Amino acid sequence: ALDSGADDFLSKPPVAEELNARLRAAQRLTTLQRELIRLAETDTLTGLLNRGAFLHRLGDAARRYAQQGRLALVSVDLDHFKKINDAHGHAVGDAAIRAAGEMLAEFAREHKGFAGRVGGEEYALALPGLRGMEASDVASALRGKISEIRVRGRTGPVKFTASLGVGEWSDGETVEGLLKRADIALYDAKSGGRDRVMTAFSDVHVARVG
Ligand code: GH3
Ligand code: MG
Ligand code: MG
Repeated sequence: ALDSGADDFLSKPPVAEELNARLRAAQRLTTLQRELIRLAETDTLTGLLNRGAFLHRLGDAARRYAQQGRLALVSVDLDHFKKINDAHGHAVGDAAIRAAGEMLAEFAREHKGFAGRVGGEEYALALPGLRGMEASDVASALRGKISEIRVRGRTGPVKFTASLGVGEWSDGETVEGLLKRADIALYDAKSGGRDRVMTAFSDVHVARVG
């Protein structure tokens, strides 16, 4: 039975004490397994999904929502972050990454989406069920909230900004295409001066929205 894939077995007739003990052991194993999966999917600094887990969830969301043509992706990159580290130290940089992460988590909860830390000071927010323009409004609000964050530095409060790019699901889309368009928009937000939101809908039409 064990060689065929069973985790455990009981001889008949079952003895209550043994059955309960084996159930408790099985429960310990599944709890441990769940905790390991959670750790493997979580970014330790921010508590958000890590890159791998985020992309996995995005693939799932794409399969579920693509038929309705509603799925938007917001790419977020903190501005001039090297300068934050250089001027205030790595610990303050970490605190800023954590604080921005909390803001993304809050927006994800509020809009029934999910967020991940997909790079050092880069995040992504998936918004299932939203059109690009609706997602742009969310991204504009997120940009404003990030610019209001203050983290404690040695010489006083430290502020920072973020650039955001919004991509919208379009017919015949792939997850890679969606990510790419959000990144194109983000790149445009950077080259346009940072601390702003840009959108790139279907055929890479890029527009500033906030
Ligand atoms: P911009 O995006 O506006 O073009 O400028 P940037 O300075 O943010 O550019 P870049 O993406 O090249 O640099 C990101 C920096 O973020 C590099 C690295 O030192 C810092 N960084 C990445 N991960 C972490 C981290 O976990 N903690 C801290 N403190 N800094 C990090
Ligand atoms: Mg970056
Ligand atoms: Mg950056």
